[in-house]
Amino acid sequence: MGFSTDCIHAGQEPEPTTGAVSVPIFQTSTYVQPELGRHKGFEYARTQNPTRFATEAALAALERGKHGHCFASGMSAIDTVFRLLKSGDHVIAGENMYGGSYRLFSKVLEKFGLQFTYVDTSKIEEVKKAFRPETKILYLETPTNPMMTITDIAMCAELAHAKGAMVVVDNTFCSPYLQRPIELGADIVLHSTTKFLNGHSDSVGGVVITTTDELGQQIGFLQNAVGAILSPFDSWLVMRGIKTLAVRMKRHEENGQAMANYLAHHAKVKKVYYPGLPDHPQHELAKRQMNGFGAVISFELGSYENAKKFLDRVKLCSLGESLGGVETLISHPESMTHASVPLDTRTRLGITPGLVRISVGIEDIEDLIADLENAFEA
Ligand SMILES: *Cc1c(COP(=O)(O)O)cnc(C)c1O
Repeated sequence: MGFSTDCIHAGQEPEPTTGAVSVPIFQTSTYVQPELGRHKGFEYARTQNPTRFATEAALAALERGKHGHCFASGMSAIDTVFRLLKSGDHVIAGENMYGGSYRLFSKVLEKFGLQFTYVDTSKIEEVKKAFRPETKILYLETPTNPMMTITDIAMCAELAHAKGAMVVVDNTFCSPYLQRPIELGADIVLHSTTKFLNGHSDSVGGVVITTTDELGQQIGFLQNAVGAILSPFDSWLVMRGIKTLAVRMKRHEENGQAMANYLAHHAKVKKVYYPGLPDHPQHELAKRQMNGFGAVISFELGSYENAKKFLDRVKLCSLGESLGGVETLISHPESMTHASVPLDTRTRLGITPGLVRISVGIEDIEDLIADLENAFEA
C-alpha cells in the first residue's frame, strides 16, 4: 500500500467486539484468564496491550521494518537499544547529536562500561577510522540537530555491515514520510514520537523499529524486562497523530522550504542551515536520500544579544524546546536543547550564541513570515 494509506490503515484493524473504527484505549493493567494455563494472548499490560500493539504495528509498517516497540519517551527508546550491548562494547556516534542522547551516552552508559567515539558521520573516512574490533553499533542522526548536516546512510550501512556492526538511525527529524533508513540498509530505526509522529505537542513517547525477528524479540524482551512502556492513552494519541502524518508533513515541507527561502534572503540573517537550499554542502545527498527536506531550519544571527532580541519579540512562533508539532516552535539551542554539550564541542560544531532553530508548523506561511519580519524590524 502507499504511504498515506498505511498511515491510516496499517496495524489498525477495527476492534473485533464492536467494530469500532478507532482502536480503543485499553486502559487496563491485567486480563482475566479463562482457566489456569490458558489465556487470550494478553496476561499483563506491561507485556501486552492492544492499543500499544496497534501503534507499534503501524509504526513498523511506515518505516518498512518488521517489528515496532513503543516506549515512554524517545530517551527510553534509545536507552533500551543500548541495553542490547554489554560492558566493553564500542559505539561510534555522530559528534552533533540530540543533546539528551549525548548526555545519556556520556553521563550514564559510559558508567556501565560502554565506550563511545564521536565523529563527523558525514565524512565517511572519519567513520571508517573509528571502527575497532569491539564496535557493535554505528549510531546516526541525519539531518543533525541543530546543524542540519546530512550523513549517507547507505554508505554507512555498507561499511558497518562489513565490520560486523549494526546501524541505528534516530529518524526523529524526518519521520518515515521524509526518510526511511531501513530501505537504505539500517538495522534499527528509532524515534522520539513526541515530535513529528505524534505531531500535536501533547504526548511524550518513543519507538524502536527492528528489521529481523531476532532483534525484535530482543527489544521486546528488554521492553518488558526494563519496563519503560508507552501508556495506552499515549499509544492512542500517537496512532491518532500518524493518521494525518502524510498531510501534515507535506504542509510542514512546503512551509519549511518557503521559510528557508525567506531567511536566506534576509539581511539580518548571516547563515541558514537547511538541506533544501542549493548551497547546503550535502544538498545533492539530501535530494537522493530524503523525500523532501523537512521543516527544521537553523540560522545565525551573529550574537546572543541579537538572538535574544529576536526570540523575545516573536509572538505567533512560540519560544520552546521540542519540534515537529503543528505549531511553529522556535528555540535557542546553545542555552536550551544543547546546554549539556561541552562548550568547546558546541563552538566547533557551530552551535553559537547567535544560533536560532525553528521548527516550522502548518500555520499559514504568510502569518509566520509576518511574525518573523516584525521581530527583525523591532
Ligand atoms: C526529542 C528527541 C529525542 C528525545 O526524545 P524524548 O521523547 O524527548 O525523550 C531524541 N532524539 C531526537 C533527535 C529528538 O529530537
